Amino acid sequence: MLPHNRQTITSIAGKCANVFLETLYPPVCLLCGADVVQTGLLCGACFGQVWFVTQPFCRACAMPQISADSLGKKGLCFACESHAPLWEQARAAFTYNTVIRHLILQFKYGDREEHAAFFARHMVQAGADILQKNALLVPVPVHRWRLLQRKYNQAAWLARAVARLSGLPTLPDALMRRQRTARLARFSRRERQHEMHHAITARATRRAMLAGQHVVLVDDVLTTGATATACTRALYEAGVARVDVLVAAVVLPDEKDI
Ligand SMILES: [Zn+2]
Ligand SMILES: [Zn+2]
Repeated sequence: MLPHNRQTITSIAGKCANVFLETLYPPVCLLCGADVVQTGLLCGACFGQVWFVTQPFCRACAMPQISADSLGKKGLCFACESHAPLWEQARAAFTYNTVIRHLILQFKYGDREEHAAFFARHMVQAGADILQKNALLVPVPVHRWRLLQRKYNQAAWLARAVARLSGLPTLPDALMRRQRTARLARFSRRERQHEMHHAITARATRRAMLAGQHVVLVDDVLTTGATATACTRALYEAGVARVDVLVAAVVLPDEKDI
C-alpha cells in the first residue's frame, strides 16, 4: 500500500474517532458549557466579551492605546519611551478582563489543555511579526514545587501549542527558577523586581543552544513585567541575541489588582 493511502486511511480513522468522541462528548464552550460546533471554542456570547488587542498598541509593552497619538515615532507608549523594557517587543492576544481571567484560572488550575490551543491560536495571530523564521520559543519557567502543585507549567503548554501552529521550535527547559519565589501578587512592583532578580537563570546545558538566538519568551499574562524582565536578563546573559515577549493577555494598568 502506498504511504499516501496509508495517510488517507489514518486521517479518515482520526476523523471517525473525532466524530465518535464528539457524539459521546458534544463540544461545549470552554467557559460556560454552552454547545459549540467544535472543541476548543467559546460560544458567541462569551466570545463577544473577549477584548482583543488591536491597533494602536505599544510595540514594547503590548498595551493597547486609545489613540495612535499616544505612541512615539518608534511606536512606543509614553512609559516605554521614558523607560524601555529589557526585551525588544511584546505582543498580546487579549487584554485581561473577567472572561480572560476565568479562562486563565481554568487553564492554570483546572488541568484544561484545550485552553492552550485556544490561546495559542490567537497568540500566533497577535505575534505574527515577532514569530520570525529561526525564532526559538522559550516558556517562562515555574518552580518545581509549584509544578508539583499544578502538575504542569502552563507557559510551557502555551509555548508547545504556539510551536505546533507556527512550526517554530520550542526549548521548554531553557530557563529555570533558582529559588522559590514568594507569592508575588501581594508585593509592590519594586519588591517583585527585587524578588525576581537572580531568581531565574538559563540552564547550563541549554546555553549553547541559546547563544546568538532570537528568543520569543512565552507566558500567559504580562502584568508588571518583572518576571519577563528577569527571564530576558537571564537569556541575554546566556548569549541570546534578541528577546521578544508573547503572551495570551496583557493587564491594563487599572486592572493590575484583579
Ligand atoms: Zn460560553
Ligand atoms: Zn509601552
